[in-house]
This record gives sequence, C-alpha cells and structure tokens, in this order.
Amino acid sequence: MCAVQAGLLGKKTLVLERNDKPGAKILISGGGRCNYTNLHTSIENFVSENPSFLHTVFAQWTVEDTIAFFENFGHIKGVEKTLGQLFPATNKAKDIVSVFTKLMYETGQDIWLDTLVKSVESVTEGYRIIIARAGKEEVLTSKKVVFASGGLPVAKLGASDLALKTAYKLGLEVVQTAPALVPLTITGKDADWYASLSGNSVFARVYNDKISFEENILFTHWGLSGPAILQISSYWRAGEVFKIDLLPKFRLDNLIRQERNAGGKRTIGQMLNDYFTKKMVDALGKFLPITIKIASLSKADAALVSDTIHHFKVKPAGDKGYDKAEVMRGGVSTAELHPKTLESKKYPGLYFGGEAVDITGWLGGYNFQWAWAAGYVIAQDL
Ligand SMILES: Cc1cc2nc3c(=O)[nH]c(=O)nc-3n(C[C@H](O)[C@H](O)[C@H](O)COP(=O)(O)OP(=O)(O)OC[C@H]3O[C@@H](n4cnc5c(N)ncnc54)[C@H](O)[C@@H]3O)c2cc1C
Repeated sequence: MCAVQAGLLGKKTLVLERNDKPGAKILISGGGRCNYTNLHTSIENFVSENPSFLHTVFAQWTVEDTIAFFENFGHIKGVEKTLGQLFPATNKAKDIVSVFTKLMYETGQDIWLDTLVKSVESVTEGYRIIIARAGKEEVLTSKKVVFASGGLPVAKLGASDLALKTAYKLGLEVVQTAPALVPLTITGKDADWYASLSGNSVFARVYNDKISFEENILFTHWGLSGPAILQISSYWRAGEVFKIDLLPKFRLDNLIRQERNAGGKRTIGQMLNDYFTKKMVDALGKFLPITIKIASLSKADAALVSDTIHHFKVKPAGDKGYDKAEVMRGGVSTAELHPKTLESKKYPGLYFGGEAVDITGWLGGYNFQWAWAAGYVIAQDL
C-alpha cells in the first residue's frame, strides 16, 4: 500500500521482500478470502499503550478510503459477512494482492523478491541496508526507509524480527511483544474436561475486567479457540483468569423461575438441554447437580447453576504461540513516531507501519485497516 500510494504521487520506491511472491499474509488471511477492513473501525478496536495515536492516522485514511481504493483500482465490491467485516465479493484474497501488483507495475515501482533484509543502519548519507539475494550480500543506501516488515507471527510466511531488532539497535522504545488473536491452552486437572468437549462450539460472552466479546468459542483437545477466545487473548496476560457467560442471551434465574412456575418437574440437565448439546450438558454435570429436579433445587444450588453458567472461570496455561497467532501485540512504541507521518522522531527518514508498531487490531479486518492507513500516511511523506 505504501509503495503504490507513493507511486500514485509520482514517487519511486523499491520494495524488498524475502518471499518469492508478494502479500503472503494477505493471501491466507480470512481463510483465503481476506477480511480487508471493518465498517465499524474506531480506536476502541485496537490494543496499544496509546490507542489515541490512531486518531491522526485514521483522520487521513478512513474505511471509506479503503473501500473506494479497492473499488476504483480493482473493481472489488465489499460484502459484509458479520459484525462489519468486509470481504471481496469474489471471496478471493488474491484479488486484493492483484490490485497492489497491478498498481506497482503501472506506477513504475520496483519489487525485489527472494531478497532478505539482514540489517538497516543509520549512516550520514541516510540508511545503509544490507541485503542477501541470489546467494550474495549487497549493500544499498537510501535517505528514506519504511519498515513494513510485519510482526513475529507465522515464520513460514516470511515473518522476521527485523523491525524489532533494528528498533532495539537504534535505541527506540519497543513495547513488549506477545502472540495475540491466538488460541489458549489448558493444562492440569481441567485439561481432560476441555478435551472431552473437543469440537463443540458455543455462542458465549467472554470477558474480563477490561473488555467483553460475544461470539463463538470452540473447545479443542488442548484448550479453547474460536473468535471470542482469539479476541480476549489480546487482553490476557499469563496467570490471569477470565470468565465465560455460556448463555449470554438468557438469565438462568429467570429460566429456573419459569420451570418452577411450570411445576419444576424437569431436571437441571433437561432444562439445559434446550440450550446446549447433550455432550456439553453431560460435561457441565461435573460442576452442576444436573440430575436434580428443579422443584427440589435449593437456593444454594440454584445460585451455583447460575454462577457456573454465567461466570464460568478459565485459567489458561498459555497460548499456542506465534505460529498460531494472527497478530503480534506490542512492537515499536507509538511514542517514537510522529502520528501524522509515522516517521521516527529520532531518526528522520525512518518510518514504521503495520504490525511492527504497537498497534494491534481486534479480529475482524481491523489489522488490515491499520496497515493500509499506515501505508498511505507514510507514502504522503516520502
Ligand atoms: C492466518 C492469518 C489470518 C489473518 N487474517 C486477517 C484478516 O482477515 N483481516 C485482517 O485485518 N488481518 C488479518 N491478519 C493479520 C494481517 O495479516 C496482518 O496484520 C497484516 O498482514 C500486517 O501487515 P504488515 O504489512 O505489517 O506485515 P505483513 O503482511 O506480515 O508483511 C510483512 C512482509 O515483510 C516481509 N519480511 C519480513 N522480514 C523481512 C526481511 N528481513 N527481509 C525481507 N522481507 C521481510 C515478509 O515476508 C512479509 O511479506 C491475519 C493474520 C494471519 C496470520
């Protein structure tokens, strides 16, 4: 995006890409369909030490700009799937990449593929870039360098620590990084319970004291996944507990009262069968008196049922790591960058955008919206 926006302004760029094709992550994004923006994007949808930093960036490049860009240059119509998530009507991520390759060509931008950037140093002429290609090391110099080299997730798609390593070497502040939008693992005494539910998906509200998300959760043989879990993972720190409301659209107290009014002949398990799979109800039997008839349910047991269903406590052992994460949390601190241009305050001519920066979007197209916006604002300044 940065290169083509620069090209549209008549500027000339050279993109250095270690992969043998461009846009590897775009191609696999959104299950190969690329959720390229979100209609409801606001700074609330981002995790960062300073989300307000985004105001200045998003004032320059909006969701409407993203939609218009892909429509005008690629005839791509966006289709909203759910929760504002926009996908190309063709359902093909490669259509998004084609817009960039076509515009790169038309505006005369260069891209060197199979080219590994080994290091970037600050020198008097600007920046010295050591690259390796075709088995040889080469040195380039440039007055301006843009780090659009992403974060640490999914090494096999080309991810590297280049931006972080360079920032450390230059003495720039880096906010501690961790996998985000990532499945969470459960070990210890509860592991078998989760594994027994492997494959079950439940619409739930997952929450902690900071945030809550209402979407599906998925039980797996090693823990929890599904959109609501990926979302909360960006707000979870090792050792913390979060909670799950397994029945967010209902209140258990009301359901029990209704059953009582109808005679209370059904058991707790029979009542829960109206809302969960049999496997799930059986598994909940580990914690709840599912065989007790509602008419004879004590106050304490009613409270236990309600508490377990609405405030189910989860203490993950860890996460599935960078290879299963959709994004990286943390990165080059926004405090190091001018919000108008994303240029380093300490190193003129050095820019950071996209996932390398301490701006992490929710699941749902927000990360691309940030990456496109970053590319645009940097290009204006090159
Ligand atoms: C499975 C998956 C699905 C996703 N789906 C979505 C989605 O649907 N919607 C959404 O908004 N976000 C999605 N994301 C997140 C999104 O892909 C990223 O946030 C986004 O691609 C970041 O853009 P970027 O330009 O900063 O980095 P990247 O897209 O990662 O691009 C960085 C490029 O730099 C290259 N590179 C890195 N180091 C070097 C080096 N040393 N030398 C040369 N080249 C180098 C890499 O090969 C890579 O091509 C998904 C991520 C994953 C992993």
